[in-house]
Amino acid sequence: MTEVDCIIVGGGPAGLSAALVLARARRRVVIVDGNRPRNRATYMSHGFITRDGTPPMQLRELGRQDLEQYPDVEFRWGEVDAITGEDGDFVATVRGVRGGPSGQVRARKVLLATGVLERLPEVPDLLTYYGSTVFSCVHCDGWERREQSLVVIGENPELINTAKRASQWAEREVVLTNGSGVADGGARASLAKRDIEVIDTPIAHLHGEQGRLSAVELSDGTVIEATGGFVQPEWSLPQVVLDLVPTAGDLGGVKTDEYGRSSVPGVYAAGDIRGITPSQLIIAAGEGSRAAIGLNNDLIFARF
Ligand SMILES: Cc1cc2nc3c(=O)[nH]c(=O)nc-3n(C[C@H](O)[C@H](O)[C@H](O)COP(=O)(O)OP(=O)(O)OC[C@H]3O[C@@H](n4cnc5c(N)ncnc54)[C@H](O)[C@@H]3O)c2cc1C
Repeated sequence: MTEVDCIIVGGGPAGLSAALVLARARRRVVIVDGNRPRNRATYMSHGFITRDGTPPMQLRELGRQDLEQYPDVEFRWGEVDAITGEDGDFVATVRGVRGGPSGQVRARKVLLATGVLERLPEVPDLLTYYGSTVFSCVHCDGWERREQSLVVIGENPELINTAKRASQWAEREVVLTNGSGVADGGARASLAKRDIEVIDTPIAHLHGEQGRLSAVELSDGTVIEATGGFVQPEWSLPQVVLDLVPTAGDLGGVKTDEYGRSSVPGVYAAGDIRGITPSQLIIAAGEGSRAAIGLNNDLIFARF
């Protein structure tokens, strides 16, 4: 069985950044990634200094390349299905993907960087446009949608805040609750101050070509012209995280201290998994660095 100082679960910006810091701290690390980045739907990622516009997979490839010169870091394609044990002696069960090896890894510490699972509203054709002209994060993709007619689609109350944020970029904006009726009178009145209309009629079709949205058709036949928009997803945490940090689901994310320590000794967390707002690649990378420093400090100070 492979034995390391730390297993990192997830090889997105949070996990890769943590791996780099731990590598440079002379730690033995296995980083395991299932290759399902949250932003895989999109062609370009924005807002990461020096990498604005880089494709998501390329950003990760660059991160993996950074690790190559450090002999004590091993990157594996795989899914961590279970983690047992306690601080100082965890055992992770890895199921290989993309040709990666299956097996167990023994680790003194665990750093969770799995990101979140995302569920979009059940709107016909939405996936065709998601990541091309319809997005979930205004600070990531608002600039390309600036001064356009936008729709903001969602079925949970956070939709209202997303709609308010989108107004910074939209020229004209319509909120579509897809029959959920999630906007109460107060929310409607508040949005009306900026001439944002809320419509509850269910969505029948999205129209457009090659991922470029042109209109939304409602079930009563109304057609709303729009060249893009935002959608309000719902998020959940992977089961392996909920099994290891039982309080994670209740709190809307894995709560940690400022060095990424969770409530479970020896388990650290970084990136979207700590709470989805704000979620950015550069924030995830920064949190990975911070948690790696916390983890390394804990290993060092335990010697004294
Ligand atoms: C459509 C879209 C567009 C976006 N655009 C931008 C943008 O332009 N700019 C920006 O800054 N942010 C953008 N974001 C947000 C950004 O993608 C996230 O904030 C960022 O990816 C979070 O990084 P992370 O490392 O925490 O998680 P992720 O990037 O989601 O990486 C987590 C990794 O962990 C792996 N994993 C999960 N469970 C396991 C397991 N059990 N075993 C092994 N591996 C596992 C997954 O396969 C995945 O590869 C966008 C998000 C979306 C949805």
